[in-house]
Amino acid sequence: MSRLKASEIRELLKLLDQPDIISFAGGIPDPALFPAEAFRKAMTQALSDQHYATSLQYSVSEGYGPLRDWIAEQMGVIGVPCTRDNILITSGSQQALDYLGKLMLSPGDTALVGWPTYLGALGAFNAYEPNYAPLIPGDNRPAQDYRDAAQAAGGRVKFAYLSADFANPTGITTDQAGREKLLDLADDLDIAVIEDAAYQTLRYDGQPVPPILATEIAREGNINDCRTIYSGSFSKTLAPGLRIGWVCAAQEVIGRLVLMKQAADLHSSTLNQIATHIVARDHFADHVPMLRQTYGKRRDLMLDALEREMPEGVTWTKPEGGMFVWLTLPEGTDGAELLARSLKTERIAFVPGHAFHPDGSGRNTIRLSFTLHDKAMVDEGIARLGRLLRAV
Ligand code: PMP
Repeated sequence: MSRLKASEIRELLKLLDQPDIISFAGGIPDPALFPAEAFRKAMTQALSDQHYATSLQYSVSEGYGPLRDWIAEQMGVIGVPCTRDNILITSGSQQALDYLGKLMLSPGDTALVGWPTYLGALGAFNAYEPNYAPLIPGDNRPAQDYRDAAQAAGGRVKFAYLSADFANPTGITTDQAGREKLLDLADDLDIAVIEDAAYQTLRYDGQPVPPILATEIAREGNINDCRTIYSGSFSKTLAPGLRIGWVCAAQEVIGRLVLMKQAADLHSSTLNQIATHIVARDHFADHVPMLRQTYGKRRDLMLDALEREMPEGVTWTKPEGGMFVWLTLPEGTDGAELLARSLKTERIAFVPGHAFHPDGSGRNTIRLSFTLHDKAMVDEGIARLGRLLRAV
């Protein structure tokens, strides 16, 4: 427990209810875009006389069969041929990260993660007492270096965790060459690759890069021979409140995770799985393009405003999808101090970047989310950020 810290972001979100704060902090979907009517109908159908005995009943730990079939079909479309036996439904992809930590990490082992990386992944893994080492896609550090460092830290390298598409928090996408190199490194180290695909569907422009799992299947021929464990989610595309995600991996891995799920919570909500299946089957194909268009425009608004308002010395990423832009501030500017000052003066919120670094580095970085606001709010919020930075 001493390793589990209250998530800085959650604590922050609590402060942001005041109406005069413009918040770019939370990485959440716009509730105005939820397919609420579709879910209302789907829930009614799932609770009808014909279906309630299933939807309100206990069900299998693997998850609702028709939903697993639908996901397997979608995975096929993105280059991952598989069957429902390769799919486990989880209570959000967050649960998958917890289970994968539990499955693979012993105290003192090393997890390779992005630097920065998704804060919630660190939160999930921390309970299993790992060390972290930076995974920099494309660097040419030999496998033996990683091995030696892990041994010196008291364990072995167990997995590499990566959000390869529009990562949280940077928005950066790992290119095909980077994915190939990562698989080479994982082969050399004989470790698993956890591909966190939470944002993969939300691409606004540029060419899709095949999932790491697809790249590995192209090498190995069959998902059941692959070391990549793909973690997907409906949170960013349909609704996070239902807590429905999935793992797609070799059957052997799924089998172990099923045992964990049985022990932990038996299964994810049957009702939510059935409703998610109905909405995904009937609306996903129309809903996702609408999200892409809307969020893509909002990303453009934020990039335009940054171009206009940021002082000399500030740089930022130009994400092709997802929810975040990552700013690097002039050396010596502290993101956490800036936020504290902002709450007293300009009243905008963002997440200080050190929170995403396992060693607390990255003090001169901040994360902005572009999902929630219209043009007027983005222009006003980014103008305030410009004033705040000029006053440093
Ligand atoms: N991975 C990443 C990279 C995320 O940003 C999030 C949510 N913020 C999650 C996983 C967890 O999402 P969920 O549990 O809702 O699927």
